[in-house]
Amino acid sequence: MVGGTRGIDAIFLTHCHSDHVANAQSLSALFRCPVYLSEPGLNMLQSGTCRMPKGTNPFSRLIGWLEPRIPFYRFSRFPACPLAEPLTDALVKSYLGEQAALLRTPGHSADSVSIVLGRSIALVGDAMVNVAGMLYPPFADEPEAVLTSWKTLLETNCEVFCPAHGSPIKRERLLAVYQKQKSNLTRI
Ligand SMILES: [Zn+2]
Repeated sequence: MVGGTRGIDAIFLTHCHSDHVANAQSLSALFRCPVYLSEPGLNMLQSGTCRMPKGTNPFSRLIGWLEPRIPFYRFSRFPACPLAEPLTDALVKSYLGEQAALLRTPGHSADSVSIVLGRSIALVGDAMVNVAGMLYPPFADEPEAVLTSWKTLLETNCEVFCPAHGSPIKRERLLAVYQKQKSNLTRI
């Protein structure tokens, strides 16, 4: 969310999953501010639906299997944002300044983006996590794109990457995990 002392000026969403977007419509109405999301996810946000991404480990695959079978919880439904608009690099710069940038970082989902703030910090949504010592997202629709997106992020000058789940990650740690994951892939 982009805001100041007066409230919230705009809501930028990193991707369309219900754990990230379910309150967007009510916050938008409360603060009378626009909601933005990258183009590939816009239809889902406007219609209030999304799809659970694929699990990348046995535990998350089990959660993916359980989700449609839980009677009182639906990941795939949330209050729609019918007036949501496309999030673009120009828009990010207009709200956050010329040094800010929007990067496409698919992998977790096709619509995933990251926002670079002031050249040194990136808000990365679910492009990575920092949970239980793990950086690789437990859910990814395009697992092969995750490392490509990490490379995109490492090519910025950012020193800190802030995931939506878990504490900020320093560049050295992301680089080390990236190189390890790459070498594992090469060995397969
Ligand atoms: Zn997500």
